[in-house]
Amino acid sequence: MTDIDAKLEALARQPFRARFHLRGRDAATVELRGMDVIRAHAADLLAKRVAPAEPHNDGKQTPYRGHPVFVAQHATATCCRTCLERWHGIQKGRELTAAEQEYAVDVICRWIETDLG
Ligand SMILES: [Zn+2]
Repeated sequence: MTDIDAKLEALARQPFRARFHLRGRDAATVELRGMDVIRAHAADLLAKRVAPAEPHNDGKQTPYRGHPVFVAQHATATCCRTCLERWHGIQKGRELTAAEQEYAVDVICRWIETDLG
């Protein structure tokens, strides 16, 4: 089992996180666009909304619907800097490094693949 899979298992034991699944339109978006496109969207959304040292509206910047990546962010605790710090040990108050952004994108995409698997 990879570190990411172990982390996803721990997250799935949290009732709040475990509620999230891709359904309907969100699932269809992934099928239609494919994971390469979804990965690019995840990188873009994360860079804009979560990666800055002080993200705009931090804690409320990730909607609950409208894109499969948003759902995945809530499921994986990559939705805001508090969750990233608490769950992934990534310190708040500074910009995410390229490696941290890549890690978060990997977590998001792995969750999507597992959820739809
Ligand atoms: Zn959060």
